[in-house]
Amino acid sequence: MLFLSDEINKTGKQNHSDFDFSFKEDKFPHVITFGEQVLESERTDYNEIFKLVKKSVKKFLGKERTGLGLALSNLPNTIGAYWQLGGNYIVLNETIVGYMRSATHTTKEFNSFLFTILAHEYIHSVGYVDEMEARRMTALVTRMAFGKDHIAARIGSSDLWQLYPSLLLLPSGDGSRMKIINKFDSDATSYIT
Ligand SMILES: [Zn+2]
Repeated sequence: MLFLSDEINKTGKQNHSDFDFSFKEDKFPHVITFGEQVLESERTDYNEIFKLVKKSVKKFLGKERTGLGLALSNLPNTIGAYWQLGGNYIVLNETIVGYMRSATHTTKEFNSFLFTILAHEYIHSVGYVDEMEARRMTALVTRMAFGKDHIAARIGSSDLWQLYPSLLLLPSGDGSRMKIINKFDSDATSYIT
């Protein structure tokens, strides 16, 4: 689950120590062009972005799983997305996704946001159940896939609510509505917006 961390609730500031981990980038080649065109695209293709998430996690963490689908729900504004342990769907906060589409300055930034939020949940689903570990792994994967200066790496190494504080002003839902978008991994038509 990608959620607003307690540190922000209490102090209005993020404690960055959660994301401090030793990371020797020199040990790995920067894969700057590793799927970059998917994020650079002028369109948003959820299937392509999720394929890139899977490819990146497999390459950098050596883990994978199949059979996950995507759904949208009216979640509380402090929850960006969740994957239920053992579940078959990654559920994104529809209000946050809608807001991010208009708040981001470029399609690349929006696609990078989607990459990061999907990567976080996918990383949970391949076995990183602990929240802090999932956040560290998300930071690692985004940095290794795109380089540390890429917008996806900046989002992946930080807290979404700190980067986009207006998220806290969005209406908060209760998860009562759920819209299934697709089954990832199937050959069904891509969901493109
Ligand atoms: Zn999480």
